[in-house]
Amino acid sequence: MNIHEYQAKGVLREFGVPVSRGVAIFDASEAEGAARELGGPVWVVKSQIHAGGRGKGSFQGAAPGAKGGVRVSKSAEEVVQNAREMLGQTLVTVQTGPAGKQVNRLYIEEGAQIAAEFYLSMLVDRATGGVAFVVSTEGGMDIEAVAHDSPEKIHTIPVDPATGIQPHHGRAVARALGLSGAQAKQAEALSANLYRAFVEKDMSLLEINPLVLTATGELKCLDAKIAFDGNALYRHPDIVGLRDETEEDAKEIEASKHDLAYIALDGTIGCMVNGAGLAMATLDIIKLYGEEPANFLDVGGGASEEKVTAAFQIITADPNVKGILVNIFGGIMKCDVIARGVIAAVKTVGLSVPLVVRLEGTNVEEGKAIIRGSGLNVIPADDLDDAAQKIVAAVKGA
Ligand code: ADP
Ligand code: MG
Repeated sequence: MNIHEYQAKGVLREFGVPVSRGVAIFDASEAEGAARELGGPVWVVKSQIHAGGRGKGSFQGAAPGAKGGVRVSKSAEEVVQNAREMLGQTLVTVQTGPAGKQVNRLYIEEGAQIAAEFYLSMLVDRATGGVAFVVSTEGGMDIEAVAHDSPEKIHTIPVDPATGIQPHHGRAVARALGLSGAQAKQAEALSANLYRAFVEKDMSLLEINPLVLTATGELKCLDAKIAFDGNALYRHPDIVGLRDETEEDAKEIEASKHDLAYIALDGTIGCMVNGAGLAMATLDIIKLYGEEPANFLDVGGGASEEKVTAAFQIITADPNVKGILVNIFGGIMKCDVIARGVIAAVKTVGLSVPLVVRLEGTNVEEGKAIIRGSGLNVIPADDLDDAAQKIVAAVKGA
């Protein structure tokens, strides 16, 4: 789960991490009050969307050369003006895709005087099986480009989970950033606090870009992106409370309500499968036969008829879906349950695209008989290969 920058800074502040003062607003009428509260003399008005690259992004329909999604403002009037121009508009950045994202919240923050910009992130490093810091002196810019053009400027500092964070990790971070003296001490304290936040809140990613050194010699996090491990959210009701569903895919939200493992993809063939391995094999074989899957969906081992119905509704609600492939191996899951779920769903939502059903395993004959007897226009398939070829042919023919 992702959260907004201002929320991420709120979480980090609780752990003693240095961030600027700021006020989040939802309406331009709140801008002047926020500016007065912060006092100035420089403010930064920042679009809050779940995507980076806001500073260099542009608003849809704006004149060429117009300002981006992060704007320095030198007076309260300018703050208000920028808030009016940004709220409700669609911001397009390298991370939003061409459709962009509507800006519904702004963060008005005190302006910092920047002497140097660094990059610092933390992630779960599969190579070492622990949390690692990734730092670079090349902050404020596109870190992927740095990784590509000058990988020697990126330093990875793994932390052994058995020891947790130690002073030498903080010293390594400071050294990689070229800091010494009082600033190295700040970097050490910062590293320890960030590590504590990362572990206690079950984060999967924390990215500070830029981490800055201010003109007065303070380290400060000017941007913050946090992703949390969805499997651990049950123990963080405070974090769940920060969820902004308008930033998420509506189909994925619906799926999570029914405890379905669903990921929306870009293709045309909707897939309903049980088991993650079989689901991946199904996506692979659809691609092999020249089409693209519209989703990954694992209905799970012991799905009920209601769950299958919900899954089918989510798939058919996607306008990109031009055909559906149901591929079920009945082990714990029984084929007749799937068959009844599919039919119940078709009766509720209708069926306007071709549907190929491949059932195998427990109660397979019963399942097939239910589908045959339903009078629905279902294309039966005998194995995975057959099923994939039939749905691809049906979609291409349509
Ligand atoms: P994004 O990464 O989405 O473009 P950032 O929060 O990193 O958004 O802001 C873009 C740039 O704007 C930063 O690299 C920094 O130079 C500047 N900036 C952001 N916040 C402030 C601030 N409070 N004071 C001064 N400059 C800022
Ligand atoms: Mg940034």
